[in-house]
Amino acid sequence: MRVFLTLIFCLYTTLAAAELPKAPPALRPDERFKADILIVVAHPDDETMVTGYLAKAIYEEHRRVAVIFGTRGDGGGNAMGNEQAAALGAEREIEARRALASFGVMNVWFLGGPDTPGQDVLRSLETWNHGAALAQAVRLVRLTRPEVILTWLPLYVAGENHGDHQAAGVIATEAFDLAGDVTAFPEQIAPPRDRLSISNLTEGLHPWQPKKLYYFSDASHTDFLEGKGPRYETTGVSPSRGVPYYRLAAGEMSFHLTQGDTGQLAKQAIDKGDFKYFAQPVLLIFGKSVVKFSVTGDILEGVVGGGSAFAPVPGYRPAKKDGLSIELGGPWSFYREFWKAHAIDHLAALLSTPEVAIAPGERLHLPLVIHNATTEARNVELSATIPKGWSVAAGQAIYPVDAHNAYPVETVLASPQKSEPAWQTIVWNAAAEGKTVGSITVRVNLANGGLPQ
Ligand SMILES: [Zn+2]
Repeated sequence: MRVFLTLIFCLYTTLAAAELPKAPPALRPDERFKADILIVVAHPDDETMVTGYLAKAIYEEHRRVAVIFGTRGDGGGNAMGNEQAAALGAEREIEARRALASFGVMNVWFLGGPDTPGQDVLRSLETWNHGAALAQAVRLVRLTRPEVILTWLPLYVAGENHGDHQAAGVIATEAFDLAGDVTAFPEQIAPPRDRLSISNLTEGLHPWQPKKLYYFSDASHTDFLEGKGPRYETTGVSPSRGVPYYRLAAGEMSFHLTQGDTGQLAKQAIDKGDFKYFAQPVLLIFGKSVVKFSVTGDILEGVVGGGSAFAPVPGYRPAKKDGLSIELGGPWSFYREFWKAHAIDHLAALLSTPEVAIAPGERLHLPLVIHNATTEARNVELSATIPKGWSVAAGQAIYPVDAHNAYPVETVLASPQKSEPAWQTIVWNAAAEGKTVGSITVRVNLANGGLPQ
């Protein structure tokens, strides 16, 4: 009986193998969307921060570039007409597409967040619908399979310091670390049941580990960024175009005509032939790399074709706290944990003291957190040491902090109504039973203009 069954089985399997059709080769990702360099920025015109470098990468090195914008640019003034809000966003999307098309860059996407003027990254992440924006960014990293990602620096700096810019940097960093993770947005990487049929509900992308991540910043002072990454001069003449790279960058910028400080400025420069504001170098800050690199080397140094293995990051690891302590909360405490979680801890050393820029007369909001890691409830007294002309609007008080608990405090200082542009220092002190338990020092650049803090 056993011999008989074995014979039947052999006969069956042999016949079946002989009848098997050969499967077609596995489908490869769509090459039309492959990027060497992916730019992740917040607003139409933000890409102009790096176009002086991109001109060389595109025209001389034939790099493929793709761009993701966080918003359509629906906020801000309109230097061309009356169109505002959603209508302005509709115009700026086209300005950005035309500007990038002038460089041959056609793969351009928008995450759909609203412009959120301010300097707090957490507010922008809130209005952008962080989760949905990140899912789309991860999807686009998997689609474009970039070797290098360039994005805004996720750091609170004195300067324009737009919360939207920082949000783009946060989302790009998260996407860099998640696109190769098969457990992150798995619906994006499951093959469709039948790609030629309708109602496919999984996306057929592949996990992708980008190789290098670089940042750029709109800080008002760039001293702390020198030597922290590659620097690209824009005064060289493009061999293929016969004009300096800054001239090519100005041409790209001149499409953003609704924007007075970029598109209009570029148009005037081109009309007058005066490019004194355009010959700036492009300064990048090294973020991370999964291939061989040097901090100031070319962004594509060490990049060879093919995929890289997934490079997991540490993720959040809570630090143990002792006794009573105080820390700067809000975006500052987020960044402290974010940098560690994403293995970009070196960003913490860029600024030795936290800094903010506000206009004279504006209020300075500093969220503080008092921690009590002891086993007893404690009273902690907060007081501010402030320069002449400042006053305390909120925050000076005695705070009862439960055992093993934290007390978040929103402090508010009123800056002097009038001041020459100047750096000033403010300090929040925490004390319990007459003993200092900690202090927070922040440098404030009292400067005119800029975004509300
Ligand atoms: Zn911007």
